[in-house]
Amino acid sequence: MDAHTTTRTATGASGAPSMPAGTRNEQLFDALFDSLVRHAQRPAFRIGDRTHTYAELAASINGIRSAIARGIPEDQPLVGVVANDDLLTYASLLALWAEGRAYLPISPEVPAERNAAIIARAGIKVALSSDAGDLPGGCSAIRTQGLSEASSRPHRRGLSDDRLAYVLFTSGSTGEPKGVPITRGNVAAFVSAFDALGIAMGAEDRCLQMFELTFDLSVMSYLVPLLHGACVFTVPKEGIKYGLVAELLDEQRITVALMVPSIINHLRPYFEEIDCPDLRCNLFCGEALPADVTEEWSRCVPNARLLNVYGPTEHTIFCTWYAFQRAGANKQVNGVLSIGRAMAGSTIAIADEQGRILPPGEKGELCLAGPQLTPGYWNDPVRTGQVMFEAGHDGVVKRFYRTGDLCTIDTEGDALYLGRLDHQVKIQGYRVELAEIEHHARELLRSRNAVALALTTPTGNQEIGLAVEGPEEGARELITGLRGKLPAYMVPSRTAFTERFPLNANGKIDRKALLVLFTPKA
Ligand code: AMP
Repeated sequence: MDAHTTTRTATGASGAPSMPAGTRNEQLFDALFDSLVRHAQRPAFRIGDRTHTYAELAASINGIRSAIARGIPEDQPLVGVVANDDLLTYASLLALWAEGRAYLPISPEVPAERNAAIIARAGIKVALSSDAGDLPGGCSAIRTQGLSEASSRPHRRGLSDDRLAYVLFTSGSTGEPKGVPITRGNVAAFVSAFDALGIAMGAEDRCLQMFELTFDLSVMSYLVPLLHGACVFTVPKEGIKYGLVAELLDEQRITVALMVPSIINHLRPYFEEIDCPDLRCNLFCGEALPADVTEEWSRCVPNARLLNVYGPTEHTIFCTWYAFQRAGANKQVNGVLSIGRAMAGSTIAIADEQGRILPPGEKGELCLAGPQLTPGYWNDPVRTGQVMFEAGHDGVVKRFYRTGDLCTIDTEGDALYLGRLDHQVKIQGYRVELAEIEHHARELLRSRNAVALALTTPTGNQEIGLAVEGPEEGARELITGLRGKLPAYMVPSRTAFTERFPLNANGKIDRKALLVLFTPKA
């Protein structure tokens, strides 16, 4: 093995290979549907003030499966699911998997125009919905209320690992969201690698699910607990997320929680009042994790193992991990904790622009390979070709994905996160291409130029500022227009106007100089 790249072999917590190649997904889905039966009387979900048992979940799945089998032809493997916060929505995801289909989550909070574009790109014709709301044009609904059935049929077996499990659309720099298909084999590889972290979830665990279903961290947050008979506690959509998370951790004595770092940045002023001794495992993903805030937070969760995990949607949920040391030095750069080493089965490497793998200590783009890697963007071979390349590693040629993250890997195999190589930013953990916002803003502004910038808030989180060239007019109309096109987290929270954009020595817009427009005047 090259010294400058790291690969882990997939083994289960017991040390034995957990899912032999070729049957990965079958073993995962056998375990999932077996868990529903084995834990029938235990709580599966706590949503709002209602608790739902595994038996209730199974009955909902049975009914929805019948409706899928009756109403959606076999030649439609991908089916939409309106992403509500209720049992029927989760049952719909699992029913699709039991039927060998895949899901595309449709967020009811996203503007209809954007959802319509996603549905058209994905080519879906039917969506499962737990409410009576309208669906974007061209897509018919199967309503999932009142379908519950006691009798169950075995889930579909014998499906190949490359069969689709879900497709998520993430912000795209060309103004169009891009589809990331994830296969059943990808999901099984993730679960196998997660098991190898030794978190050993059990039926007594009480697990946080704080993510929209359009964000892949949700998959870990519901799937892994359900595999073990644990209870999933969802965070209500209404209200202030970080406050609701803190409330759940405390009142529901959550034991396992995956969060985005922005939650603890927001909670920092309240750390003195927070004490969650029940939390035994706290994972962070989605954004750079500040070492100092983590250190302070660790005192609020005195019994928790704290892990910083990392990964893009394209490489199924996450694929590296770093264990925060309560006593002792933690690896960090610029106050950001290391994202650690590859999880079982994954390979991490640093490459230069030509795709040459660089030695330890060199800075470059973090590249990922392994069984968690997507086959490529949805119906987009050009974009796939831009981010995937092959390189020799460990004596074999592997398919690598370019993450756009600037990193270095130390001699122990731990990756250190240095920032982005492009204009992608994270807002509350959501991936946002600034170019996508600019694309829509310029369209709305017609002949005027606009640049979107990531601004750091006093809590250390990021928000979006939009700089517009020209006279100070039309700000309200612009923001209203953007609200009709983009999800709320992508709509700029601040705007600033300037007669002429500053240019750098190369004649390009000087984005850094534009930040001054958002600095409070002394
Ligand atoms: P997404 O596809 O939404 O999961 O976003 C993936 C991107 O989020 C990565 O390419 C990183 O830029 C960022 N990211 C995810 N986890 C971490 C982490 N633990 N530390 C720093 N950045 C992260």
